[in-house]
Amino acid sequence: MRQRNKPWADDFLKDNQHLIIPNPKDYKGKWNELFNNNNPIHIEIGTGKGQFIVGMAKQFPNINFIGIELAKSVIVTAAQKVLDSGQSNILMLNENAMELGDIFENEEVANIYLNFSDPWPKNRHEKRRLTFHTFLDTYRKILNKDGQVIFKTDNRGLFEYSLVSFSKFGMTLEEVTLNLHALEDPENVMTEYEEKFSAKGNPIYRCKTSF
Ligand code: SAM
Repeated sequence: MRQRNKPWADDFLKDNQHLIIPNPKDYKGKWNELFNNNNPIHIEIGTGKGQFIVGMAKQFPNINFIGIELAKSVIVTAAQKVLDSGQSNILMLNENAMELGDIFENEEVANIYLNFSDPWPKNRHEKRRLTFHTFLDTYRKILNKDGQVIFKTDNRGLFEYSLVSFSKFGMTLEEVTLNLHALEDPENVMTEYEEKFSAKGNPIYRCKTSF
């Protein structure tokens, strides 16, 4: 994700603390209180510019969505989209996914979406891939027993790596598709990267996995 310096981002974060929660560890085990309902919580890691989370929140108004995005200059764009949409079932966190175990209680989350995660192709950066086993360990803890990790990418190398990582971890592959768009799944919400790379003719891979 291209990151431009946005000098106004700090002020934006300060002015929108109702949406981009500044101290998320305080809400561990209490996210439903913040949403003021008992609806299931789905999280997206690496939300980028927010098209997916806004589209999903519109399609599933009885699900609470939380977008986690590391880059401040990117999350502000996503947050503006959320504000423009008027959706009240979305919160955002400007955090590193490494912190998720301190942000969510065991089994607090119903689904995890990983969309077009950074591939980190060099071996020495393997630990940064969001499907590396240390991340899977955290996902296993915070997901409830029926929860799924749903992963989409156009990056074949990362997809192959992730399938191996999931299966080494003992996860069940519930669904694997090598051409998501051929399924014409009416519930599929495209991300910004998905639009960009499918327009270039790249196939989109998706798998749904559980622990
Ligand atoms: N999901 C979006 C899409 O499909 O259009 C964005 C994809 S972009 C390639 C990956 C995003 O993940 C970037 O915005 C990056 O800042 C974010 N990211 C990477 N590692 C992360 C981490 N450890 N925690 C949170 N966000 C992360």
